[in-house]
Amino acid sequence: MIDKIKIGGIIYNVENVERLQGSELEALDGKICFAKSTITLNTSLNDQTRLQTLFHKILHGIFMQSGHVQTEDVVDSTAYGILQVLRDNHAIMDAVMELNKGMEAVK
Ligand SMILES: [Zn+2]
Repeated sequence: MIDKIKIGGIIYNVENVERLQGSELEALDGKICFAKSTITLNTSLNDQTRLQTLFHKILHGIFMQSGHVQTEDVVDSTAYGILQVLRDNHAIMDAVMELNKGMEAVK
């Protein structure tokens, strides 16, 4: 899917693993590590759930860098909302691509 994503001034490696666990060995869909600049996604997720989880982790990165308080319900509902708007409005992606013409992006 995506192997790097730039959030603010930080480029995160996006990694996929079969079993992703939290600090208490609970199963996780995704994880962002600020110290290592990595976002890890669980490969057991289907494509749409993995993309929603990626948006969720991106929002954690944006909120953390901007110093905003993060609550899981706001982060999760916003991630679902962004994914829905992008899926329902293809012209937005075209407009973003047009806006970025000539700009270098993360590869
Ligand atoms: Zn979260």
